[in-house]
Amino acid sequence: MQDGVQLSSVGTFERKCPEAALRESEERFRTLVQFSFDVYWETDAQHRFIRQEFSEAIPAPPVSEIGKTRWEVPYLEPDAEGWRKHRETLDAHLPFRDFELARPTPDGGRRYVSSSGLPIFDETGRFMGYRGVGRHITERRRAEQALREMQAELTHANRAAAMGQVTASVTHELSQPMTAVLCNAEAALNWLGSQSPNVEQARRALASIVADARRGGEIIGWIRSLIKRAPARKEGVDVNGAILDVITIARSELLRHRVLLQTDLASDLPLVDGYRVQLQQVVLNLILNAIEAMNSLDARERELWISTAADGSNGVVVAVRDNGPGFDAAMVDRLFEPFYTTKAGGIGMGLSICQSIIEAHGGRLWAGANQPRGAVFRFNLRRE
Ligand code: ADP
Repeated sequence: MQDGVQLSSVGTFERKCPEAALRESEERFRTLVQFSFDVYWETDAQHRFIRQEFSEAIPAPPVSEIGKTRWEVPYLEPDAEGWRKHRETLDAHLPFRDFELARPTPDGGRRYVSSSGLPIFDETGRFMGYRGVGRHITERRRAEQALREMQAELTHANRAAAMGQVTASVTHELSQPMTAVLCNAEAALNWLGSQSPNVEQARRALASIVADARRGGEIIGWIRSLIKRAPARKEGVDVNGAILDVITIARSELLRHRVLLQTDLASDLPLVDGYRVQLQQVVLNLILNAIEAMNSLDARERELWISTAADGSNGVVVAVRDNGPGFDAAMVDRLFEPFYTTKAGGIGMGLSICQSIIEAHGGRLWAGANQPRGAVFRFNLRRE
């Protein structure tokens, strides 16, 4: 039955004169453009537009680009490198898909277009140009941008929340060097102020002051980079060093909850490629989660292990294990979903943010059961 319908329609088509057939084919083609794409285009062998059909659905069709190449029409994106790659594809007469570019709009905005094209050859194999379609993706881009901004806000909010939790630790960490500085300064004054000044002792006291002030400065610098919104510099990160800094910050929180911490940090690990502060944020989140998870245990049982090791593919794997109640194995994937929380005051963004940070570093974050009980969160990172 299906075949019959098709045959009769072909028959109708053939009975028409060539112009009518052509008109009908054009009509069909227009319908296709109307419902499928925002623009249909053709270019010649020099990549100049020779035809453009805009869908009526576009509120204000852009001015015609006929006679110009895609890069001769004013654009804002991609950059020179993006165009160079695109032109390489065109000059090699290869098909392309979803090439995204941005044009300026009269009101000072950006119009994003995603273009796809197929090369056309005549019967002798000579390259004739391209045929393709374009889609307006400004709305999609805007939505993506809004999502990115929201994630950045949440990352910041999450960091701020984590900051709240470690404020006590930080105050404690800073008050120690401050007290030491004060004591050593008084000692130095005494050594110098006596009848026979002891310069050597005074020098030692001053050296201690320098070391303590430096330590305090480091802590302040770390806190500052943690609260800052701007992404930090990408660098070769010494994972063990970064973890030890986080432990310093979390120490009094661990003491307050009477959690026993054990570390097993492998020596000779390669540097990993990444943002130190972001990776520290992940470790801090995992530590705070573990502390919270163990709250229900008897204080003598609360144990946390942090370990690093080289992984098979030349990178580094970090594990944070606790012996808390763990989680239901069936829920393992849900833990990383945004807003999934089992805590009364939880936001449920911590693990989701940790996961996106690790994935942005080209690694993976996963959870499992610790033996004999508890949870273990592991992530791996690529070497620099
Ligand atoms: P939040 O801490 O705000 O709940 P997270 O995304 O950090 O958000 O964690 C999501 C959920 O994952 C937690 O509510 C908890 O149920 C579970 N979870 C996280 N860490 C652990 C852990 N160490 N042990 C057991 N469950 C955990």
